[in-house]
Order: sequence, then C-alpha cells, then structure tokens
Amino acid sequence: MFRRTTQAVFRSLKMSKVFDVIVIGAGPGGYVCAIRSAQLGMKTACVESRKTLGGTCLNVGCIPSKSLLNLSEYYYKAQKEFNSLGIEAENIKLNLSKMMKNKNKSVLALTRGVEYLFKKNKITHIKGVGSITSQNEVTVTEQSGKKNIYQAKNIVISSGSNPASLPEIKIDENVIVSSTGALSFDSIPKELVIIGGGYIGLEMGSIWKRLGSNVTVIEFLDHIIPGMDHDISKEFLKILKKQGINFKLNSKVTSVNKVKEQAVVDLTNSKTSERERIQADKVLVAIGRKPNIDLLNLKKMNIKIDHQDRIQIDKKFQTSKKNIFAIGDVIAGPMLAHKAEEEGIAVAEIIAGQAGHVNYDVIPGVIYTSPEVATIGKTEEQLKKENIKFKIGKFPFLANSRAKVNNETEGFVKIIADEKTDKILGVHMIGPHVGNMIAEIAIAMEFGASSEDIARTCHAHPTHTEAIKEAALAVDKRPIHF
Ligand code: FAD
Repeated sequence: MFRRTTQAVFRSLKMSKVFDVIVIGAGPGGYVCAIRSAQLGMKTACVESRKTLGGTCLNVGCIPSKSLLNLSEYYYKAQKEFNSLGIEAENIKLNLSKMMKNKNKSVLALTRGVEYLFKKNKITHIKGVGSITSQNEVTVTEQSGKKNIYQAKNIVISSGSNPASLPEIKIDENVIVSSTGALSFDSIPKELVIIGGGYIGLEMGSIWKRLGSNVTVIEFLDHIIPGMDHDISKEFLKILKKQGINFKLNSKVTSVNKVKEQAVVDLTNSKTSERERIQADKVLVAIGRKPNIDLLNLKKMNIKIDHQDRIQIDKKFQTSKKNIFAIGDVIAGPMLAHKAEEEGIAVAEIIAGQAGHVNYDVIPGVIYTSPEVATIGKTEEQLKKENIKFKIGKFPFLANSRAKVNNETEGFVKIIADEKTDKILGVHMIGPHVGNMIAEIAIAMEFGASSEDIARTCHAHPTHTEAIKEAALAVDKRPIHF
C-alpha cells in the first residue's frame, strides 16, 4: 500500500525533483555521502542552507583554524626563534587583515572545490533549509521564503552541529564569541578568556597567544582534553603553560557579563570555593557543540533523539524510519570531520546494497597545536577500567635524531599493547608532526598489528616516525636509542 502511494506521488512530480538519495547538509559527512552515492549510480541531491558548501569543517572549523594555526606559527617562529637559529630577521610585523584574507582565500578555494566535485558527479545542489515533511519528502525553504518539495527513496540527515553555550552566557560573536567569532577577530585581543579546555579552545588559545594575546583557559575539570590519555594531557598542559597560556582548572564559570566593549568573567574554584573575577577583551565559549536538529521536523516525523539531542540510529545508520539515515556530528561518537566522512561513505554503500561499515575502534584524533597531539584506540585509563592487561612502550622525541636537529624535542610516543597477544590497543603521541604520523598506526591497527610488527618494520632515517618504531621496541623493553 505504502509502496503504491509513494510511486504515485513520484510519478506526479517532475523527474527533476525525484531522487534516489537526498542528503541534508553539505559538510564532510553530507558532501562525501552525496559523492559516493552518485559514484554508485544513484540520482543524488544535497540540500545546504549555507551559501557555500563544505559545512562547519570547511567554512568555520577544521580548515580556517588550521590556516590560522599554520600562519600564526610562522609569525611566532620568525619573531621568537629565527634569530637564535642564525636567520636574522628584523622588524617582523603582523598584518592581521592580510592573514585573515589568506585564511578566507583558502576556505573559498576549498568550498569551490566541493562545488566542482558536485558538478563532476552530477549531484543536484539544492540551496535552502531542508525539512523532512514525509517519509519520502524533503521540503526546502529558499532564502526568499519560497518552498519546494522534493521526493527521495532515501534521505540522509547530515545537518552537523552548532557551538554550545551555557544558559547564563549570551554569545554575541563580538565580545563573547564562539569558535566562529574567534576565527575572525579584526584586532588582537589583549586579554582573551577561553571557557573550556578541549581541543577547539586550546587550538584557538594557541593561535591568539602566538599573535600576542594574554590567554587564560578556564576548565571545569582538573585536567585538559577530557577523555584523553592522562600521560598525554599532563604533558600537554605542561607544554602549553611553558608557552605562556594561563590555566584555571577545577573552575566553574558562574557568569559572563558584557560591560561596554569588554567582558567580566566570574569563576569559582570548585576545590577551594575561592571566587575570582577576570576582565577580558574577548571571551571564547568553547564548551562543546550540540547537534543541529531544530529545523528538520524530527518530532512530527517520529524520528527518535537521545538525551543529548543526537539522532538515534541502528548499526546501519537507520533512524526510526528505515529509509531515513543519519551521520556525522548529528549522531553519537566523536565530533570529527573524518568520522563523518567515513559514515557518509558507509551509508551510501548500505543504501546501494553493499556492506558499508565504520570501525569506531580506529578513529584518530589530532590537536593541531605546536607540538601536535595525536591519539587512537584505548587510553591507559580505559583499559584499566575494562580490566584488560596491557604493556606500555614509550619513547621521547628528545632521543629522535630528526626532532633533535629540528629543535622540536618536546613530547613522546606511547604505545599500549595487549599483555598476552601484543596486539596494539592504543597509541598516544605528543610531538612534532604526530598528526601525520598517526596514519601509520591507523593502518597497523586496521590490520590487527602487534607492537612487534611495527618494531620489525624498517622506518626511514632520519624521520620522526623512528620514534614510533622505538616506542614499539620499548614495549618489549629493547629500545635502541634510549
Ligand atoms: P557540518 O560540517 O556541521 O555540516 C552540516 C551542514 O549542514 C552545515 O553546512 C549546515 O549549514 C547544514 N545544515 C544544517 N541543517 C540544515 C538544514 N535543515 N537544511 C540544509 N542544510 C542544513 N574536526 C576534525 O576532524 N579535525 C579538525 O581539525 C577540526 N577542527 C575544528 C575546528 C573548529 C573551530 C570546529 C568548530 C570544528 C572542528 N572540527 C574538526 C569538527 C568538524 O568540523 C565537524 O566534526 C564536522 O564538520 C562534522 O561534519 P558534519 O558533516 O557532520 O556536519
């Protein structure tokens, strides 16, 4: 009965408005899902409310933040390190508006790249806000208010996330900002307060510290980067403090008030109950992100969400309606672009009748500060909790020849392997270029490698990757260079 009714509706619509797959949201989850669906021969459309494609990641997330991290590091090194290395550079000046233009140029080039990929793969780009109005129908409201109805056999929700705030804090993207505002300051804030010691807060803190701000990070917990292996988060905190970033741990922000063009931040130390007030030029609220579900009409469609507003799915990414799928930041799991991309590919393949799958045990996480932090698999704390016996091998970058000649000796590699089988269970690194180096571990873990497999693999000399080989040797207590 349902089938006949749907087919009748499909026949009554213009073919240009009927699709095999409609994806809502063109972030890394959505646009990748659309491309894979098209590659698999399905007629595909992607609805996006933003002017440009690429979602949070390309527009206000991964890409602009990495651009500023890279450029601010050049500035910092030219200013603070070049002279001591024999490169005499005088009068190094910052031109912030030029730096921002360079960032915007990179963002534009990449968002246009997605447009090109849509054209190449014959994907229909529908501009406007998508809402699910029946099991096979997406209504798109254009900016002018005009509504268009599209039909699809399958709908994929990839509407991503927005910055979260606290009830008592009003983000105005001028003085009290989210990460979006902090990516576009038009002058260097003298005093920058960051609420939240997660990866977004610390990347932003690094950028503005290098450019000249006095940065204070307020974190509710007694450590930074919740969920990270404690050895790494302790070392990371030590290094960031050495770089001059101030930390207020165990501290709860009780209010943030705008006074003229400044902000007053009140906080209480949860251990000592001591109260403190900090005056800031800008306050960045970086306490996390929340799923973007408000305009999707989920309640009327009876699509279930959990207590954190994330869309509930089964193992095949199906929501409570079997032909409606959800991926990326809008479902549970780490809010990361590459996780969303993997899910996008898996869902397209599942819709096409293939065996799409994501291995959640092998999702790397990288923080692009200097030094970088990269982790994958289980932490030491998780394994203890799960009563799994393990052995650890550690190797410091101080003993790695490439790191030494490059004057980048902070940090270490930590490999955790199963005590009996030697299978790699988790790898946690802080140091130069570890964001790229983690790919070696991801492949090793996908193939179920042991630490000995890595220890017996020839690594080029002199490279930072030799620190991974040495840490693998250290699991068996036989590192060569330490
Ligand atoms: P999004 O990228 O959020 O895309 C969703 C899209 O859907 C948006 O463009 C939105 O406009 C659109 N949309 C929403 N609702 C509708 C609707 N009803 N109709 C039409 N369109 C709609 N991750 C990393 O892996 N590495 C990093 O280095 C990294 N850095 C980050 C730095 C910052 C400052 C931030 C904020 C995030 C960062 N992230 C990073 C996280 C990453 O950006 C997200 O995990 C990723 O973008 C999620 O992809 P997504 O496709 O699920 O959603």
